[in-house]
Amino acid sequence: MTRTRRPVVPGWFTDDTVPEFRLLGTRCTACASVFFPREDDWCRNPGCPGGGALAEVPLSPRGRVWSYTDGRYRPPAPYVSDPDAPWEPYTLVAVELAAEAMVVLGQAAPGVTTADLAVGTEVEVVPGVLNEDDEHLWTTWNWRPVAQERRTEREERS
Ligand SMILES: [Zn+2]
Repeated sequence: MTRTRRPVVPGWFTDDTVPEFRLLGTRCTACASVFFPREDDWCRNPGCPGGGALAEVPLSPRGRVWSYTDGRYRPPAPYVSDPDAPWEPYTLVAVELAAEAMVVLGQAAPGVTTADLAVGTEVEVVPGVLNEDDEHLWTTWNWRPVAQERRTEREERS
């Protein structure tokens, strides 16, 4: 059975089947503040002159690691997880986007561990899968070191 790909949160990132995958925020046309998660109702900058609109804007595809950690044990309830399934450690990355002057959190791509990361490592946003059930693949974004992508391409060529 084919499962439907569905974003965990609609509108936070582009279709993950197109090549140029990007996070989607909004920018205030009056003060140029960028918001992610997207703010569609009103500008949250207290210094905004007002009168602007919030327009959708793709965020920078690359940034630098601001901080990172990993989750090696199952959090207690109310965290939702199947106690009978083995716990899969995952890596969390906070990425600073210079142009937007913001830090965006996300999981690292599968296979990326804290050993692959350092503060300042250049990473890029790539499509990812957060969860799957009988009917859906719930899609999200992941961060992947840019150098790791280059290494993967070299391995594929050789
Ligand atoms: Zn504004």
